[in-house]
Amino acid sequence: MRLSRYFLPVLKETPADAQIASHRYMLRAGMIRQQAAGIYSWLPLGYKVLKRIEQIVHEEQERAGHIPLLMPTLQPADLWRESGRYDDYGAEMLRIQDRHERDMLYGPTNEEMITDIFRAHVASYKSLPLTLYHIQWKFRDEIRPRFGVMRGREFYMKDGYNFDLTKEDALHAYNRHMVSYLRTYERMGLTAIPMRADSGPIGGDDTHEFLVLAPTGESDVFYDAGVTELKLGNREIDYADHAAVKGVCEEFTSLYARTDETHDEALYGEIPEERRRQGKGIEVGQIFYFGTKYSDPMGAMVQGPDGQKVPVHMGSHGIGVSRLVGAIIEASHDDKGIIWPEGVTPFHVGIVNMRVGDAACDQTSEALYGTLKTLGLDPLLDDTDERAGAKFATQDLIGLPWRITVGPRGLANGVVELTSRRTGESEELSPEAAAAKLA
Ligand code: ATP
Ligand code: MG
Ligand code: MG
Ligand code: MG
Repeated sequence: MRLSRYFLPVLKETPADAQIASHRYMLRAGMIRQQAAGIYSWLPLGYKVLKRIEQIVHEEQERAGHIPLLMPTLQPADLWRESGRYDDYGAEMLRIQDRHERDMLYGPTNEEMITDIFRAHVASYKSLPLTLYHIQWKFRDEIRPRFGVMRGREFYMKDGYNFDLTKEDALHAYNRHMVSYLRTYERMGLTAIPMRADSGPIGGDDTHEFLVLAPTGESDVFYDAGVTELKLGNREIDYADHAAVKGVCEEFTSLYARTDETHDEALYGEIPEERRRQGKGIEVGQIFYFGTKYSDPMGAMVQGPDGQKVPVHMGSHGIGVSRLVGAIIEASHDDKGIIWPEGVTPFHVGIVNMRVGDAACDQTSEALYGTLKTLGLDPLLDDTDERAGAKFATQDLIGLPWRITVGPRGLANGVVELTSRRTGESEELSPEAAAAKLA
């Protein structure tokens, strides 16, 4: 992309009402625009990041054997009357009537609808195990939408639902989700710690939340410092192997890590003192096993091997896709702007042409731009006639991992400058060597 042809409405001023770094930087970098409280347009740069995160979520879900589909944002109230949640859900649910005065709602989550799909089409245990998921906009009329996309009213969420014959199979689905989530967050450059949590209004027995440690998080967390060292890395995982998947979960949940809802002072006190930590975390996902809570009242039954009809064991598993954009920035920024992890960056590299109109600068910038594209990378070429200082400020703000500076002084010696956004370190290289380093 050429910056002169792009739509990147960068703000010079810091927006007054943005209290945390991610919100400020998303507004300043022209990633989002607020349209109403907690409701945002995703401008091109923000949209690119959102799509990269979504893509990683899809890849890891499909790797775990989970199947994508798409349910609508609007739902009939009657489904929620069947489960009893139409009345229970409260003021967070946005209720709407259509022209025939039928009660509808903008879905805050999809347990009822997916259970309806399941019961209409699945009758035998032979179709199990089955996990269906979608990535779709949700609406919750949050009492206090704030921190930009971190607590929106309209937000983008991956929600998946497992259907299993037995509790044991459903717990395997739970474990599979835990491992696939760990991989998902790691690919985004995040450490998200699974913490034992409280099941709240969804109800259920087993649940973990995934928390990214950050001082601006809204959850109080208590943990053994050892949990922050755990990494999946690129180890092979056979999602069909119950014991192996369970083993990974045990590795990641054996050290103490809880939110305030389930915090236990006595257990916490057993952690060696030098490893006891207390802080704030951002909830970027949650997994639940809830058994037959929905399948019972809604009649989602299958015929088991013995011919008997039994309600299926279910769980639901969510990732806050739009919240992740903010959470990643909270975890990775400095006082000049965002520092994107490679896995989610909107462009791989920014090429800054320091003197547009200078034949050598133009030619080298264009050649680099072409080479990087041929290498399969997505470069952003700053070919505008802004001052050098403003160009650098924009690059720092939008936080691409690499910058290549093409200036007349360097070119006189046959070099450009390659700078890492994270370390700030620069090196002078030939344009070919710079491109080769990024490949
Ligand atoms: P919170 O505790 O932050 O209100 P939640 O526990 O109500 O979140 P879940 O029902 O577990 O949310 O939904 C799954 C995920 O969706 C959450 O882990 C979070 O990442 C994301 N999410 C929930 N509410 C919002 C929101 N208002 N804005 C953006 N993302 C959200
Ligand atoms: Mg909530
Ligand atoms: Mg929560
Ligand atoms: Mg939750």
